[in-house]
Amino acid sequence: MERYESAREMALALRPDQPVYCFHPQVLAADAKAFIQAFPGKTAYAVKTNGEPFVLKALAGVGIDCFDVASPAEFAAVRAVAPKAEMLYMHPVKAQSDIRLALETYRIRTLSLDHEDEVAKILRIVRALDLDPGDITLFVRIATKGHAAYELSKKFGAAPGHAVELLQRIDRIGFKCGLCFHVGSQIEEAETYERALASADWVRSRAGVDLVGLDVGGGFPATYGHDPRRKAPQVPTTAELIGQLKSDLEEWGFSDMPIVAEPGRAICARSISLVVRVLLKKGRRLYINDGIWASLSDSWTGKITLPARHIPDPARKRRAGDADKIVPFKVCGATCDSVDILSRPFWLPETVDTGDWIEIGHIGAYSLALRTHFNGFYPDTIVEVERPFDEPGKPAVSFASIETMAD
Ligand SMILES: *Cc1c(COP(=O)(O)O)cnc(C)c1O
Repeated sequence: MERYESAREMALALRPDQPVYCFHPQVLAADAKAFIQAFPGKTAYAVKTNGEPFVLKALAGVGIDCFDVASPAEFAAVRAVAPKAEMLYMHPVKAQSDIRLALETYRIRTLSLDHEDEVAKILRIVRALDLDPGDITLFVRIATKGHAAYELSKKFGAAPGHAVELLQRIDRIGFKCGLCFHVGSQIEEAETYERALASADWVRSRAGVDLVGLDVGGGFPATYGHDPRRKAPQVPTTAELIGQLKSDLEEWGFSDMPIVAEPGRAICARSISLVVRVLLKKGRRLYINDGIWASLSDSWTGKITLPARHIPDPARKRRAGDADKIVPFKVCGATCDSVDILSRPFWLPETVDTGDWIEIGHIGAYSLALRTHFNGFYPDTIVEVERPFDEPGKPAVSFASIETMAD
């Protein structure tokens, strides 16, 4: 990977016409370590958030020794960079052949489910491989309610009464039992985990089986930007959420049980920024060389305002407007698809123009992972950049919509 001091230095040296991902390894290390230290249990990084080998390798290097995986490609990606790491197969609905691969080839011993037919699928393979169910932990996923940019209980999770039956069923067979939930991604209020813990407690007390663990899933939010004309939204920080979660775990009687978290976004969002180029400026619209079918789909569906910084092209000698005036630009993506327009604007100096670059911050989660080849565009240039996107101190270039700057 080529290395640069800053994203700006990279942009001026390469003058890239393709999007360039700028990986900030120290930021990834710091955010991973901070999570591991703050969380009162095991940290299992959710590979789907960003499963690039360089990310997984860096995480293994700072002590992440457990990964939440959902597919054969994710098993292989983890095994390739961290052969000793534990894997938790936490997808509730799995292909029969993938269950076999997990149990037989990858020796995964922790799986999740939310339906009795999934128990039957797993049991069939356990019997075929002549495994002892007592060596395998099945986490029953319960449905939860709360406010998150993405709510996932619409798709997965057993209602509490159903979860009780499932726990009793898998206990009778001889599997070890656990409870898990995933409150959704980018959660917006601290009470979300407490509601889930209350359900988990209800299920535990009705089921009357021994539980070997509680997995609280992901959902820990990352910091993004916001409309600078409005007050910054009161999104709890990951540290605050973990603090709250700790006291909730105690209150609901889970603090003596092994606890697992599956953070994705909170660990890798800040570690990558993305330099895109303005292909055309049309009034208050910017056409850029990336979009919802490449790196920006998560911000589109999650209605996330991304922090953006202007990197002016020094070759442009004349500019219209006021460089100190930060205004919203509607952002149109690279493809010919008419839905390829971001749901939130970029806040940038009025002077931004065709040929300039924009560094988009905090884009490490669900960006590379969601890229498609649609219309022939597929950003795939990655460089290492020393200076983090939101380095404290005076920014060297125009800078907008980062929460700390608007305060
Ligand atoms: C996506 C996912 C995660 C990670 O979620 P984040 O919000 O990125 O932390 C964790 N667990 C499960 C089961 C998931 O599906």
